[in-house]
Order: sequence, then C-alpha cells, then structure tokens
Amino acid sequence: MPRPIEALIHTEALAHNLGRARERAGGARVWAVVKANAYGHGIERAFEGLRGADGFALLDLAEAERLRALGWRGPVLLLEGCFEPRDLEACSRLHLWHVVHCGEQIDWLALHKTHQPHRVFLKVNSGMNRLGFAPASVRTAWARLDALPQVGEISLMTHFSDADGARGIAHQMAAFDAATRDLPGERCLANSAAVLRHAREAGVAADWVRAGVLCYGSAPDFPAHDIAHWDLRPTMTLRSRLIAIQTLQRGDTVGYGSTFTADAALRIGIVACGYADGYPRHCATGTPVLVDGVRTRTVGRVSMDMLAVDLAPVPGAGFGSEVTLWGEGPGGSRLPVDDVAHAAGTIGYQLMCALAPRVPVRAVS
Ligand SMILES: *Cc1c(COP(=O)(O)O)cnc(C)c1O
Repeated sequence: MPRPIEALIHTEALAHNLGRARERAGGARVWAVVKANAYGHGIERAFEGLRGADGFALLDLAEAERLRALGWRGPVLLLEGCFEPRDLEACSRLHLWHVVHCGEQIDWLALHKTHQPHRVFLKVNSGMNRLGFAPASVRTAWARLDALPQVGEISLMTHFSDADGARGIAHQMAAFDAATRDLPGERCLANSAAVLRHAREAGVAADWVRAGVLCYGSAPDFPAHDIAHWDLRPTMTLRSRLIAIQTLQRGDTVGYGSTFTADAALRIGIVACGYADGYPRHCATGTPVLVDGVRTRTVGRVSMDMLAVDLAPVPGAGFGSEVTLWGEGPGGSRLPVDDVAHAAGTIGYQLMCALAPRVPVRAVS
C-alpha cells in the first residue's frame, strides 16, 4: 500500500482561471505562463486545462520541446531568451519566439544561420532591474535587431515589480512608454497581478498579457485579496490521510523540539505529509488545514514525512480521515494554497512549485 498522499490537478479549474484572465485582459491575447513545470502542475497536465491560451510562455528549452510533443503548434515564448548561441538552433527548429534582453543575445542572433526569421520580444528594463535594456539603449537595440536578416517581427516587452502592491505600475508604464513611444510592434507588459488589478488602465493589457499564477488558483496580491475575490479556483489539491491518533494530556508535547504543549486534554491526528512532500517546514502551530473538510490547525513542527493536526473541531475524525493540505476538500470545502503559504511566510507560487517528486500526481476534471 503506497502512502496515502496524492496531488490532484483540476483541469477545469485551470480553464476557468484562464477564462478569468481573458475577461480581465479585454481583447489582449493571453500567454499562459507554464515555466517551472507549469508551477509544479506538470506541463502535460496543465496543457489539458490551458490549451485555450493564445500561447505558452516558459524558460526552459526542454519544457518547450515537451509542449511541441503534445502537439501545440501555436506560439511558444522563451521568457529569458537564449542562454547560449546554440539555443537559437532549437528556436529555429521548434519555432520558438524568444525574448532578447541583452547585447550578447543580439550578437548571437547576428551569427545565427536560419532560413526563417525569428520573432523576438525586445525586453525593456523599466525599473525591475533584473533583465532588459535600459530605456536609453532601447532604440539602439531595436535598430540592431531590425537590421538583422535573422530577425522578423520585433515586439516590445517589460515586467512589473510592484503590480501586486502599493507602489503600483505607473512609474514603469511611464518609463516603458518613454523608451518605446515611436517604435512599432506588439506590446506585452502585464503579469497576473497587473491583469487582475490594472488591466483596465490605458495601455496595460496592450496586445498580450502574461498570466502565470492566476491560472493556478493563487491570488498574486494575497492577503489584500483572495481567490474568492478574483473568482479563481484552486487547480492543485494536496491531500492525505490520518495514519494515527494520539490523545494528549495537559503538559504533553508534540513532535521534534516539543514546540507545542497541550494546555488541556487534546486529540490530535498524525498526517502522512511532511516537508519531503513539499509541505513547508516553516509552518508554525496554527497553520490552517482541513480534516474531513473541516478547517483546523497544525500543531508542533512539521517533520520529514508527517505532521500533526488538532482534532478538537472535528470530533468525528479518526484513523483514515481525509486531510486537505491545500486545494479542494470533501463536501465542497476549500483551503486556498495562499492561506497555507501566508502561514509559512511565503507565497502560493513557492508551495506549488515545491511539490515533491515523490508525491503521485493525477489530473482530474
Ligand atoms: C513568471 C513570469 C510571469 C508570470 O508571473 P505571474 O506573477 O505568475 O503572473 C510573467 N512574466 C515574466 C517575465 C515572468 O518571468
């Protein structure tokens, strides 16, 4: 008998969330961002739910190859472009569109032998200061690309640092606009947070948006807003079962380091899920969890293969009861991954991406 832990990928929820991106983005085309193995969901499983996208954006050539193997013939965009000159051969062979964010990538293109000109997205550093050409050098980069026979259509792109928060995007919109005002080409600016929070503002949705985490049922601006507010649905459920019950007396402790002490008699359940499954070890006592669909809390430290939960709110629970670590629970119950991430001092992205290879995953509708 395998351990009772498993992850479910909800393909209809993926399609629903993608639809939400479309609604918010007006007429813009939508890239479904599927980097990091589709935020831990698996490219193949995510593709089932997201095939209605206008294109797929990712970083990794092997993942691009997997998409092509699934039969996807539409646009695929490499968000960081090429890492070395020979990556351009894969771009030609697989018909990948790619970001150009630095002079080296233009040098490589100039030496590349291809029959078909490449579609490139020139990346502007409008203030994130990770990738992209500084505003003052955008025109020169554009002119260099425009002069190359290896390059066909040139689009323009930037990335926001604060679309989810108080600083917002106005300063970056202004920098992007100033750097690109009289350059032709399609524009692609918004990530999930900008799609949800800013897409109704002039120029933000532009020609393409890049919808990542929102497709996967996580609110990029949690806790200011949750997925219910944005009408998003969980796309990943991590669930397991109780494999033991303990009854604590006042003064008894639980787990490594005895970080939890019962102040009265307490029934607890031991769950077959630990940090080696991708559950965050940093969750302190009090992290939300569902047992038989009822919201309760973890107690004590998370260990490699197990964690403990308070059964006081669920007196009917016992050996074998279903535990929802995040996602959809029984009877219509739900625990958004953002609630768990928040308790662990991180974000939903990280929990989903960290789902461990030892957890069996299956797609459900
Ligand atoms: C990851 C990524 C996105 C998607 O971000 P979300 O916050 O998940 O929507 C968009 N653009 C770029 C350049 C990225 O690297």
